[in-house]
Amino acid sequence: MSSWSSRAVHADAEVPRAAGAVSPPIVQTATFAADSAQEFAELALQRRGSGFYTRYGNPNHAQVAAVLADLEGAEAAMVFASGMATITTTVLALVRSGDHIVAQQRHYGGVPSLLLNLLPRFGVSCTQVDQTDPRAFAAAIRPETRLVLVESPSNPLLDITDLRAVSELARAAGALTIADNTFATPVNSRPLALGADLVWHSATKYLGGHSDLSAGVLAGPAEVLDRVWDAAIITGAVLGPIDAWLLLRGIRTLPLRVRQHNSNGLALARALEAHPAVAAVYYPGLPTHPQHRVAAAQMDGYGGVLSLELAGGYEAADRFIDGLRYARRAPSLGSVETLVVHPATMWQAILPPDQIQDAAMSPGLVRLSAGVEDTDDLVSDAIQSLNALKT
Ligand SMILES: *Cc1c(COP(=O)(O)O)cnc(C)c1O
Repeated sequence: MSSWSSRAVHADAEVPRAAGAVSPPIVQTATFAADSAQEFAELALQRRGSGFYTRYGNPNHAQVAAVLADLEGAEAAMVFASGMATITTTVLALVRSGDHIVAQQRHYGGVPSLLLNLLPRFGVSCTQVDQTDPRAFAAAIRPETRLVLVESPSNPLLDITDLRAVSELARAAGALTIADNTFATPVNSRPLALGADLVWHSATKYLGGHSDLSAGVLAGPAEVLDRVWDAAIITGAVLGPIDAWLLLRGIRTLPLRVRQHNSNGLALARALEAHPAVAAVYYPGLPTHPQHRVAAAQMDGYGGVLSLELAGGYEAADRFIDGLRYARRAPSLGSVETLVVHPATMWQAILPPDQIQDAAMSPGLVRLSAGVEDTDDLVSDAIQSLNALKT
């Protein structure tokens, strides 16, 4: 079975489910009974099992994990209560005091908080590098580097990491590469095939796809996942059976949805780039993106998220969002409905103005996550809102 849509629908066919049920039942139970002392002991010791205690695994977890492992080309997968639970548990499982991590300057905001605020308390240090330059990773890797964290495209400027080059550098140094594949999804990019060791997602975004659940996923070799599972039963960030079931339902249509997100993202990026009220568009599918060639070599599509810099600064960005008919002003991305954020409204409250210099915090920057609405509707909506800025 090779086509994305068929795999998204059938890759969990081997996972046991109630006889005759076409949709897998929700196994809403905290615990499972064993028939004998021996069976109880076996179930208790089984890593990534699904019939002992729901924090240790549940049939609804096993079904989602089977599909995600298949889509990511991984030996195994695990689910968590959120994206942040996934990366926190994974990193805690794989480092010890004295270890060092190399990460990007730009990541989803929770990741630097983990690396710079939490881990130093446990003697784990981190160096952040410019993700667009593989040589910067090479220069930062030390003998005690255990992990290299990458995210491509990254939030919010859609910078690209050369996943093949960086994974190769990390491997040569004996470090594991962990790729955040949230923005691309396995439909657009498979980091494991490019050499990464582990891939993770905020499944809250495209995988779930409907803004109705929080979840996270980790995929990779079974041996590494076993080590992470040992930590996961301690951190206890367990995905509820209902949310696991909803996640599986979302993933059934992932390939269909991503096709539309890709079309909408590209059409919006092209239309916005041509508009005089827009100073810059950040989207890896545009030939003007500084790393378009790397993106084209490692991606099959560019997704629905793009950022734009309004020529009129903070006020123009705010009015642009107010003028959109289809987009909701909300954090998150990757859902069926279009969502927009104006990052400066958050940064203004957190940082003094003289520290707001990074393009990622620019007053006129807007991040737009195109939903699956009709392409022409989204483009004409964005254009009418930009045109209205002149008045
Ligand atoms: C949202 C997000 C996360 C965090 O995931 P949660 O499910 O919100 O914990 C991590 N990485 C990226 C790229 C994200 O967009």
